[in-house]
Amino acid sequence: MSLPAPAGLTPDELARARAARGFMPDDEGEALARAAAGADPALGPFLEVGSYCGKSACYLGPVAARAGTVLYSLDHHRGSEENQPGWEWHEPDLVDPEVGRIDTLPRFRRTIHDAGLEEVVVALVGPSPVVARHWATPLSLLFIDGGHGAEVARADHDGWTPNVAPGGLLVIHDVFTDPALGGQAPYDQIYRPAVESGRFTEIDACGSLRVLRRALQLAAGR
Ligand code: SAH
Ligand code: MG
Repeated sequence: MSLPAPAGLTPDELARARAARGFMPDDEGEALARAAAGADPALGPFLEVGSYCGKSACYLGPVAARAGTVLYSLDHHRGSEENQPGWEWHEPDLVDPEVGRIDTLPRFRRTIHDAGLEEVVVALVGPSPVVARHWATPLSLLFIDGGHGAEVARADHDGWTPNVAPGGLLVIHDVFTDPALGGQAPYDQIYRPAVESGRFTEIDACGSLRVLRRALQLAAGR
């Protein structure tokens, strides 16, 4: 099964998303928007784990707006392990000097403001498992692009994937089947358990982005 063709973004929206700061290759961002355009908004809103500075929200937000729904964008805004000082993906200008830690929330807010998405993209600021604990709204699309440690990734799987509505989409970033290409946590702790449970089936892939659809009902015996 393949997804509908148009990316769901205007040329201006696409240019803005490409220019936004963050960690999303152009082709994977377009695949993300295309997946969102294929989600059924009647099933519920969109939610992403891992906002950073708002780049993926620039791909998902315009699609949510046109679908008449919203994107909840969750992050504690303190950065993942690999964003901390001394690590490969650290960006020193994002450190709050008084706190001495990364704070991506101001940059995120600015990105969403400049993109005209303040009515559509709703920030959830806090640790993913803490927000997940009391979350009960079914989602038409869940995008997991949060922490890449094994325990953090597993917590995202366990805490969030049950909220994907039957027929809804689970999109996972940074899935690498080959350890030489990247860390294994999203593959081992999110992708594989989702597929192996029988609840999700892969319907599209682009680079390290995987798009799964939740089964309408579990097969007998699961
Ligand atoms: N989607 C973004 C990139 C996200 S980077 C883009 O398109 O550019 C991963 C983000 O996950 C970081 O901003 C980090 O702060 C956040 N994160 C990591 N672990 C988290 C956790 N347990 N709870 C909330 N946010 C977390
Ligand atoms: Mg990522």
